[in-house]
Amino acid sequence: MKYYSLNNKSHKVSFQQAVVAGLAPDRGLYFPETITPLHDSFFANIENLSQKEIAYEAIKQFVGDEIPKAELKRIIAETLCFDFPCVLVEENVFSLELFHGPTMAFKDVGGRFMSRCLAYFNRDKDSKNTVLVATSGDTGGAVASGFLGVKNVEVIILYPSGKVSDIQERQLTTLGQNIKALEVDGFFDDCQDMVKKAFLDDGLKHKNLTSANSINIARWLPQMFYIFFAYQQLKKHNKPIILSCPSGNFGNICAGIIAKRLGLPIAHFVAATNANDTVPRFLEKGNYNPKPSIATISNAMDVGNPSNFIRIQELYNNNLSEFHNDFSSYSYTDTETENAITDIYNRTKYIAEPHGAIGYLGLKKEMTKQPNSVGVFLETAHPIKFLDTVEPLLGLKLPIPKQIESVLGKEKVRTKIKTYEEFKAFLNS
Ligand SMILES: *Cc1c(COP(=O)(O)O)cnc(C)c1O
Repeated sequence: MKYYSLNNKSHKVSFQQAVVAGLAPDRGLYFPETITPLHDSFFANIENLSQKEIAYEAIKQFVGDEIPKAELKRIIAETLCFDFPCVLVEENVFSLELFHGPTMAFKDVGGRFMSRCLAYFNRDKDSKNTVLVATSGDTGGAVASGFLGVKNVEVIILYPSGKVSDIQERQLTTLGQNIKALEVDGFFDDCQDMVKKAFLDDGLKHKNLTSANSINIARWLPQMFYIFFAYQQLKKHNKPIILSCPSGNFGNICAGIIAKRLGLPIAHFVAATNANDTVPRFLEKGNYNPKPSIATISNAMDVGNPSNFIRIQELYNNNLSEFHNDFSSYSYTDTETENAITDIYNRTKYIAEPHGAIGYLGLKKEMTKQPNSVGVFLETAHPIKFLDTVEPLLGLKLPIPKQIESVLGKEKVRTKIKTYEEFKAFLNS
C-alpha cells in the first residue's frame, strides 16, 4: 500500500515510511492511495468473528506486506488488550466505551498499535526513533503507556506546567524507562510550537523525530477497529446506525468514514464539538475558516483547526453536497454539556463525562431527524479523568479504578524547561 501527501499527490511513500516520518516533507498528511471494500461475506458473518480477527481484516490492506501476517496479528493482539462494550443508555441509544484500557482513553488503541509498528521496523537496527508529543492532558498518558519499554524508541512528552490534572501528570511522569517528561513553563500552544519547531530543525535530523498524534497513520487507522466492534454489537437491531463522535482533531470520525468506505454499514456520521465549532460552521456556510482554540470543560477537544479534517475533505471530494449525504456536525456549550451529564444521570443512572456527553447530544439531535435508527456515541474517556466536572454535578464520589490507583503513589519525574533552546539541549543531551 502506498500513501500520498495531501499537499502533493505525486509524493508517495510506503506504510513504513509514512509511519516513521509522521508527516510528509511538504508538511502534508499521508493518505492511503486506495481503499478496497471488504467482501460482503465478512459483514454477513461478523458476529462470528473475534475482535482480533475483525481488526486484522480491517487493517491488513493498509499495512500490506510490510509487516508479516503473524507479526501483524501479534501487534493487534497486544493492542486489543481490553474490552470495547456498547452499553445501552436508553432506548436505541448506546455508549461505545473506549476507556477500559491502561490509561482509560481511546488513545490507548492507537498508541499501542503505533508503538509496536515502530518497534517492528526498528527490530534489527541500532538507530533510534524519538517520538515527540505535546499534550494538553490525555494524549501524553496514552502514548507514554503505549510506548513503555518499546525497543529503540524514546518518547518525549511536553506538557504545560500547572495545566494538566494531578492524575494526568502522574500518568506522564511516573513510568520511567524510555519515557521522558518535560514540564514546560507555558501553555499547551507553547508545547506544540516547540514540537513543530523541532521537526523543522536541521540540527535535530539525526534524532529521527516522529509524532504520535492522529496525523500519524499508525495512530489513526487502528481507530477504525472499534467502529467495527460497535457494528458487530449493534447489527442485530436491524436498523440504520448513526455514529456520533465527540470530535477534537477529528481522528475518530475520519477513521469511521474509512470503515464505511471498507463497506461497514454506518448510515450517518455526527461530529459533535464543543465551542470550537470550525467544522459545524463549515457545513453550514461552506467555507473552512479555522479560529484559535477556546478553552472548555471538554478540553481534549479544544482544537480550533482540526488536523484530520483535510483527510475528511479528501474522502468527500471537497464537495459540500457529498458531505450532506451522511455527515452532520453540531456544536454545544459548556452549559449544555453540564446539563446533559446531569440529565443522562438522572434519567438513566449512566455517568457520562464532558466529551461523551457532547457525543450524546449530537446523536440525539440527529436521531430526531432519523427516528427509525439506532445510535451510538463514543465515550472517549473514563469519568474519573474529569472528576472535577462530574462529581460536583452529580453530587457523588467516583471510585478510583485500578489503572489510576497504580500511578497515584508514584513519584513524578520530569525536567522543567522554558525555552526552545533548553528543549533542544535536552534532546541532544
Ligand atoms: C483526543 C480526545 C478526543 C478527540 O478525539 P479526535 O479523534 O481527535 O476527534 C475526544 N475525547 C477525549 C477524551 C480525547 O482524549
